[in-house]
Amino acid sequence: MLLTLTTTHQPATDLGYLLHKNPAHAQTFSLNFGKAHVFYPEASEEQCTAALLLDIDAVQLVRGRDKGQSLDQYVNDRPYVASSFLSVALSEVFGTALNGRCKQRPELVETAIPLKATLSVIPCRAGEDWLRRLFEPLGYSLTIEPYTLDEQFSEWGQSHYYTVTLEGQQRLSDLLSHLYVLVPVLDHSKHYWIGDDEVEKLLTRGKGWLETHPEREQIAYRYLKHRRDLTRDALSRLVAEDSVSEEEEEVLDEDEAAGTTEEQEGSDEKKVSVHDQRLQAAFETIRQSGAKRVLDLGCGEGKLLRMLLTEKSFEHILGLDVSYRSLAIARRRLHFDHIAPRQRERISLVHSALTYSDKRLKGYDAAAVVEVIEHLDMSRLSAFERVLFEYAQPGLVVITTPNAEYNVKFETWQAGTFRHKDHRFEWTRQEFEAWGRGVAERFGYSVRFQPVGSEETEVGAISQMGIFEKRSFTA
Ligand code: SAH
Repeated sequence: MLLTLTTTHQPATDLGYLLHKNPAHAQTFSLNFGKAHVFYPEASEEQCTAALLLDIDAVQLVRGRDKGQSLDQYVNDRPYVASSFLSVALSEVFGTALNGRCKQRPELVETAIPLKATLSVIPCRAGEDWLRRLFEPLGYSLTIEPYTLDEQFSEWGQSHYYTVTLEGQQRLSDLLSHLYVLVPVLDHSKHYWIGDDEVEKLLTRGKGWLETHPEREQIAYRYLKHRRDLTRDALSRLVAEDSVSEEEEEVLDEDEAAGTTEEQEGSDEKKVSVHDQRLQAAFETIRQSGAKRVLDLGCGEGKLLRMLLTEKSFEHILGLDVSYRSLAIARRRLHFDHIAPRQRERISLVHSALTYSDKRLKGYDAAAVVEVIEHLDMSRLSAFERVLFEYAQPGLVVITTPNAEYNVKFETWQAGTFRHKDHRFEWTRQEFEAWGRGVAERFGYSVRFQPVGSEETEVGAISQMGIFEKRSFTA
């Protein structure tokens, strides 16, 4: 059984870092069902392919079992197909990559890169359509090569084995997790005992995509080998864990800390969360500029997209995010699959990273980047600047980011920490303004700054906004 993973992300040999396997050497690993060989059929700057070859020892699998050793225990498809053995091999051989860790290329772990995975071969009794229903919602395009049962007897028809190639812009850890869960789902004979542990594995590896997968019920049912009790448990936990998103949690934390809940303010006014204020500020600035085509970069779960859609003067809106899971939630919240065709044409959702130039970002009048830059590694900021200000070049850019000076107002805040675990930095007003002025100067924009939220003495407002206008645009 052979799995190959190919990338054209450059330098493509970075795949070796991501997989923690040196492209220059072939390696062999002993597993309790046979051997796994890892090698690179090609490794150039432009394109790199890693291969995982499983050499499953069918005789060894049977040895030690005391009864009923029939011929089909020795002669079967196990050595040749992608099955739950592949999942075990992925976690043992590519465990660090599966868990999304890479010291040498930390930013690449978080980046969706062009990836192609080919499985030779995969069993799928339910046919090609089921393969598509499993992988296409995750953003893959599929090439499926079927096999006839026997070339000499065409009347015997098709076999249920396929060579499948998945292609998409994915984080490597996501692709490995998709395979880890979905390969055993396709295969009927899972080789190990199904217990509570399997529910944990399913939830761990399914985190971030299974919650919103249209076939999640069938996936859980088949992964857990038709154990209804475990499937029910898994599904109820999937939904519960999805119900409060990271961004919602952040908003709740900040509101609580800032004492802006309705009761504490003693006001009858409808509560406007800090986060809604930021979105409103960005929305108003863009609306007043007269922009027709608008980008929402790092759109997350699509709150701003929803606001933008309600404003008729925006003719086209593009939301981009690196998180496939957030985009899937955005799709659902925007009722993407059910909205009227004319509305549907006004909006595009793009799975990509802001640190790589993407031609789909060209030709827009305005861009909102709301509470995103602090999620980028400081070392990647200059790439982001070039992608946005030099390559995409919208006439207007609105960027918001937390004001670090305000953190002392949060009761639960501890010095030296950030508001959110994924923040890589938080800037004071002076730091943000210095960065913003530098960017404006380097790329031919003017810039002004505004507080977001009410200003407190000394520390300012909870968030800050930079408004960049391209010089030729304002002139
Ligand atoms: N703008 C949204 C979400 C803010 S949370 C809102 O205000 O509601 C930050 C978002 O930035 C997350 O959705 C995260 O996935 C996204 N993000 C982080 N790094 C990114 C990158 N390199 N490229 C694109 N999006 C990124």
